[in-house]
Amino acid sequence: MNETKILLSERDIPQHWYNIVADMPNKPLPPLHPATHEPIGPDALAPLFPAGLIAQEVSGERWIEIPDEVRDIYALWRPTPMFRAHRLEKALDTPAKIFYKYEGVSPAGSHKPNTAVAQAWYNKEEGVTRITTETGAGQWGSALAFACQLFGIKCEVYMVRISYDQKPYRKLMMNTWKADVFPSPSDRTETGRKILAENPDSPGSLGIAISEAVEVAAKNEDARYALGSVLNHVLLHQTVIGQEALTQMEMAGEFPDIIVAPFGGGSNFAGIAFPFLHHNLTKGRSVRAIAAEPTACPKLTRGVFRYDFGDTAGMTPLLPMYTLGHDFVPAAIHAGGLRYHGAGVLVSQLLKDKLIEAQAVDQIDSFEAGVTFARAEGIIPAPEANHGIAVALREAEIAKEEGVSKTILINLCGHGNFDMASYEAYFAGKLGRLSLSQDDINTAVGKINTPEIAG
Ligand SMILES: *Cc1c(COP(=O)(O)O)cnc(C)c1O
Repeated sequence: MNETKILLSERDIPQHWYNIVADMPNKPLPPLHPATHEPIGPDALAPLFPAGLIAQEVSGERWIEIPDEVRDIYALWRPTPMFRAHRLEKALDTPAKIFYKYEGVSPAGSHKPNTAVAQAWYNKEEGVTRITTETGAGQWGSALAFACQLFGIKCEVYMVRISYDQKPYRKLMMNTWKADVFPSPSDRTETGRKILAENPDSPGSLGIAISEAVEVAAKNEDARYALGSVLNHVLLHQTVIGQEALTQMEMAGEFPDIIVAPFGGGSNFAGIAFPFLHHNLTKGRSVRAIAAEPTACPKLTRGVFRYDFGDTAGMTPLLPMYTLGHDFVPAAIHAGGLRYHGAGVLVSQLLKDKLIEAQAVDQIDSFEAGVTFARAEGIIPAPEANHGIAVALREAEIAKEEGVSKTILINLCGHGNFDMASYEAYFAGKLGRLSLSQDDINTAVGKINTPEIAG
């Protein structure tokens, strides 16, 4: 039969998260203290994160057991479906077989609840009653709001002012799940008050919002901070996606030649790709894993591998990563989740070692691909997801030119039902092409004044 949906049952929800560190030929370099540049240990993270998550952040164990209660909650939307994109293949007239794993069926509409629920659980275990975070477009804030409310934890979200004003529905989702949402900069923190004193009409930024959320967590014993991407434990939690996908591909009698996923800080990419890379690293497979980033924020394809701060304000430890510099401000593209200057440590090391690949996509091409997808398959993808789809279409075109049948797996990490304003701008021809000149790149990376990485 020409199967369209490949479905698993609740019994197939993975029992463990997969930690790729165990299989990496070159282990990630240590984080450095922001001031002394000396390697820091896990205890430096204790004011911000619960011990259970810090242990995962530095773990070298290959398989980490998922707590039963987390798996029970995952069952609200997991396992997620995989689809064979028969109609898209036909529309493209390609010999490639295209599959997509759909994470948009979660309550918040993206992959982010996979880590939000896990993070909230470890916080609850250690008696934390309040979690602070930042959100840009609102995907992460809504995922964490949903997760905290399940455990009776108070969730405090600092939402970039301009998004707060422009995206009322994401805010209302968070309110429905009982979170307090504050436009950032706010008058609740020293950072916020200082910025408001200088500029009462500040539109805010992700960097400012992170600084506010971190400040509140650091100053209040009952509060901890949560991050939705980049960190090792966040990538770890997302590996439920790829483990399910492995089983589903097996059920379809396939193993992918190519996996594509959009790339912001690396969590959904890692989530789908790492369990397959386990087969590359230990079982002689050779799937190509391609991260799709925007041309407006091309840290993987045009950035440098350097120690840099995770945030704009320079408060976090220094992390070894591909970066455009922590004060690089990307153009205001609609894929808000991809506007991050850096990349997670694990994916950065894997890219350095040429074990994964990256490609950049212009936002106009990404929307064109997303609309092609929506018209063939029905689902309207998140603007971020469109970048991965665009790379998949490119690879399908190459397969067609070469007359070979490739199996391509896409991570459709979220739906775009709250992002229709960005589609409106695309249809109205209001989006511009955004490519950075080599001078722009040189200026951005020239500002990085953090330690060089030897070798
Ligand atoms: C947050 C987000 C991203 C980017 O973050 P990653 O950590 O790189 O996955 C991509 N797509 C969607 C739908 C998101 O919400």
